[in-house]
Amino acid sequence: MNPFQYTRSSAASGAIQSLVKEPQAHFLAGGTNLIDLIKMGVLRPERLVDINALPLRGIEAIAGGLRIGALASNSEVADHPLVLQDYPLLAQAINAGASPQLRNMATVGGNIMQRTRCNYFFDTAMPCNKRSPGSGCGALDGYNRMHALFGASEKCIAVNPSDMNVALTALEAVVHVKGPKRDRKIAFSDFHRLPGDHPEKDNTLERTELIISVDLPANSFNRHVHYLKVRDRTSFAFALISVAAALDLEGDKIKGARLAMGGVAHKPWRLHGAEAFLLGKTSGEDVFRQAARIAMQGAKAYKYNQFKLTLAPNAILQALKTASSLG
Ligand SMILES: Cc1cc2nc3c(=O)[nH]c(=O)nc-3n(C[C@H](O)[C@H](O)[C@H](O)COP(=O)(O)OP(=O)(O)OC[C@H]3O[C@@H](n4cnc5c(N)ncnc54)[C@H](O)[C@@H]3O)c2cc1C
Repeated sequence: MNPFQYTRSSAASGAIQSLVKEPQAHFLAGGTNLIDLIKMGVLRPERLVDINALPLRGIEAIAGGLRIGALASNSEVADHPLVLQDYPLLAQAINAGASPQLRNMATVGGNIMQRTRCNYFFDTAMPCNKRSPGSGCGALDGYNRMHALFGASEKCIAVNPSDMNVALTALEAVVHVKGPKRDRKIAFSDFHRLPGDHPEKDNTLERTELIISVDLPANSFNRHVHYLKVRDRTSFAFALISVAAALDLEGDKIKGARLAMGGVAHKPWRLHGAEAFLLGKTSGEDVFRQAARIAMQGAKAYKYNQFKLTLAPNAILQALKTASSLG
């Protein structure tokens, strides 16, 4: 682990200016991802800018939805009465991740920004275009069991590891960020990116921009929801496949559907085609099975993750069945 400087910021503008001045400075929130990456030599920051003293922990109702501060802990969000009442899908997704101790430390901003769990990214002895651009992709012909089915490139087949991000995608969250020159909003679906030729960039946030909050627009997806996570252990493991499913039902008529998958792409993967197919249909196993088939169009597996081609549609089917109370 390299020595680094430590600064504790009391104002967002000061924290941002620290990153403007030093190209190797990073924001530090809960530290549960960043510190691991430093210990493993994946990152070598010269300064950590601790943002924990910034007033960004609030969770409050706003006109047309809910605002969650970037420093709210994962536990605070998952246990919040308004989240449980209006966005239970988000609570389920967060609680499917990590462990209680980690969720107490981990923040919303840090969870959104967490790096991939691809072994080749973590192992500094191996090539990885995400860690070291131009070095190659160890996973492409390596042990690629955890890797992508959609949107990958020759440069990178890693997946986004977050559970929370899958729910935020389905719920059409909006991320508020502050930069050195301006503030802006980023639709959650535009926040993370596909690897293309630049897998070193996980998302569209500029290095000097700070996530301030996440807004959840009001919706009617608060009754028939389910977050299904399939993993090697029933706790404390990242998703092989996960599905966030939300239905707006009138009787058994589907008035609206939101579906997103985790563990299948470099970004949380929204299933627009399957959602459109479900609209106006009567909920039932056959319809859900067809939706799952549509969702899988264009999937491409690698040597060791072929099993995901079967697991993913089965997980979509099961998540929809559970969300609609079919079982
Ligand atoms: C053993 C283990 C198991 C885990 N299992 C799961 C799991 O099953 N599912 C899951 O989803 N996650 C899992 N995680 C990941 C965990 O959710 C993340 O480590 C955590 O959410 C990161 O939040 P943090 O506040 O600790 O971020 P930090 O580690 O402090 O920061 C992470 C990154 O975010 C940046 N950052 C933080 N806040 C901001 C901000 N406001 N604006 C801009 N950039 C910011 C930092 O600079 C850094 O680059 C696991 C982690 C561990 C260690």
